[in-house]
Amino acid sequence: MSSEESADHPGGADGGGRGGASKEEGRSASDRDSQHSGFNPMETLEQLMRFLRPFQQDEEEEAKPEQLLEDISLEGVVKYMQSDKCKNIIVMTGAGISTSAGIPDFRSPGTGLYDNLEKYNLPEPMAIFDINYFRERPEPFFYLAKELYPGKFRPTPCHYFIRLLADKRLLLRNYTQNIDTLERIAGVPGDLMVEAHGTFHTGHCIGDCGKEYTQQWMKDEIFADRLPKCTDCEGLVKPDIVFFGERLPVRFSHLVMEDFPKCDLLIVMGTSLVVQPFASLIERVPATTPRLLINKEKAGEGIPRLRGLGLFTGGFDFDSQNKYRDVAYLGTCDDGCNKLAEMLGWKDELDELVTSSHKEIDGQHESSSSEKPSKGETKSETQKTSLPKSETTSK
Ligand SMILES: [Zn+2]
Repeated sequence: MSSEESADHPGGADGGGRGGASKEEGRSASDRDSQHSGFNPMETLEQLMRFLRPFQQDEEEEAKPEQLLEDISLEGVVKYMQSDKCKNIIVMTGAGISTSAGIPDFRSPGTGLYDNLEKYNLPEPMAIFDINYFRERPEPFFYLAKELYPGKFRPTPCHYFIRLLADKRLLLRNYTQNIDTLERIAGVPGDLMVEAHGTFHTGHCIGDCGKEYTQQWMKDEIFADRLPKCTDCEGLVKPDIVFFGERLPVRFSHLVMEDFPKCDLLIVMGTSLVVQPFASLIERVPATTPRLLINKEKAGEGIPRLRGLGLFTGGFDFDSQNKYRDVAYLGTCDDGCNKLAEMLGWKDELDELVTSSHKEIDGQHESSSSEKPSKGETKSETQKTSLPKSETTSK
């Protein structure tokens, strides 16, 4: 049924396409039960677009927005950043900017972290961030929280590059999907941050009373290998990170509306742009605003095959002949930021910031572990040997 509908829809939208579409429709109806072998909705769409193409192109040429980049390249972006047209930069970041800090991309299955979670017999890896699962069995999440606890890791050159943008008053906002708080540790001011998937900064009782708890309180509980329980109502206390099945923070939707229309340059780093609504944010900037992706592979391209046929499909357009504002740097986020810094003439400043800040962080860790080694603030080696929660869950 659904394949029949999807074939019918584009044909119905335009009388001229009707003939071709109903032919496909007939084929799809007969192959309805063997979708994989016969009917291909993409092929049908492509045929249709090829048919519509002459009309489509006229419209596109008229509608093409002004090109602000002198050249569609990293050089072009750098020149633009140095001009007075570029005052408000939005940076969107994902797990890829933290991997070089040693934080595994735990949302993608197959990392070492998931192997560690085997003993909990999760129905699927994502269950660890499922709010309903958490209410029943919070132990795996707190095990993970302890492993990934903010403060155990040092920010990367990429994080410090964002900090530099803030120092230079070019950063309008950093929207991050990460919950590791490395942006804050790198010195990006809290009011310039939107932690789209929440943060460990605070926590709340998810029992009856909703009482707020501090990061320090939760940390003490988690590192003492206790389930954080509300002191008032005995409910579970959950860090304010967003689980599947929970709403995004109000601050997110509020600031998206305020920020994105003002954006002069969008830099997207270390995310494959698959988690909504974060992924669709790249469409929220003005049509003329240049967009730079720094990532190991291309992402957020919509449907390049259809774009090749002259159809606007949303997403980045790095390669079509109509491209006018999207640039991809393929490589690690650190390499990309180092390269950008170099081209902008900021490299010494960035290196200096990384070195001095790492020194400071290492100093703090050493002093805190030697001052109070018995308070649960012990070093990571000890944490790893005393993995607690397995006792409470093994049956
Ligand atoms: Zn409570």
